[in-house]
Amino acid sequence: MGRKQRPLLMGSNLKMFKTAEQTRAYLEALQNLTADIPRTEVQLFIIPSYIALPAALQQVDQNLIRIGAQNVFWEDAGAWTGEVSPVMLKDLGVTLVELGHSERREHFGETDLTVQRKVQAVLRNGMHALICVGETAQDKELGVGPERLREQVKIALHGVPEEALEHIWIAYEPVWAIGERGVPATAPYANAMHGVIRTVLTELYPNRGAGVPVLYGGSVNLENAESLIEQPDVDGLFVGRSAWDAERFNEMIRRTLKVWKRRRGGEKADQ
Ligand code: PEP
Repeated sequence: MGRKQRPLLMGSNLKMFKTAEQTRAYLEALQNLTADIPRTEVQLFIIPSYIALPAALQQVDQNLIRIGAQNVFWEDAGAWTGEVSPVMLKDLGVTLVELGHSERREHFGETDLTVQRKVQAVLRNGMHALICVGETAQDKELGVGPERLREQVKIALHGVPEEALEHIWIAYEPVWAIGERGVPATAPYANAMHGVIRTVLTELYPNRGAGVPVLYGGSVNLENAESLIEQPDVDGLFVGRSAWDAERFNEMIRRTLKVWKRRRGGEKADQ
């Protein structure tokens, strides 16, 4: 599906929060609250901890809320104590896997090369990869943010054929914008960096690269969500803390969708 027809993408990574029961209750509430929103307009996804995946998958209809995993290992099976295989995720019913979140890069030794191997594993097993990229505060200070993004995207997609692009989403998450101490990127800054990512995608895949969805993440909240989605290169929002209360996330989805529809020049935004 081309960029023009694609629904708004809105989702959240629950990180190491919410037990299985809390995840189930959150998803039940979110599914009920958003029941009237046509999924042709917005695609929702939630990424709980591994341990909550079975409860999450039992609770939701993935046509309404897609369920993703926060990580995966790059081999399908083997002597890899403590790791989770893509075959196991697929077998559970997971359809989306987040890769390369900055917390994994910072605390667990994830590198561009391990992300690249994991992208291959996810695609090999017929799931979607949500690849997180983003420059650090130091990269930004040194003026090498765009170079850093180019490198991350190029390495993650190394060996990915053009036909597989429909299974790829990119999340632009500047490291300095994420979490409690993060400062959200301004909307124009986010748009410019999305533009950098889209340029690399187009260089790599002249025919279909521009169609890969690029989501913004990093301290998205009720105050800045609308200005971010107004930006022409922002295809969706990947939200942390501000999405973990179902009512607040529902409110954000609705406000964002109004702007998205206006931006699309489609139907007149609902009042
Ligand atoms: C994240 O960690 O991916 C994220 C976007 O978190 P937050 O919105 O809480 O900054």
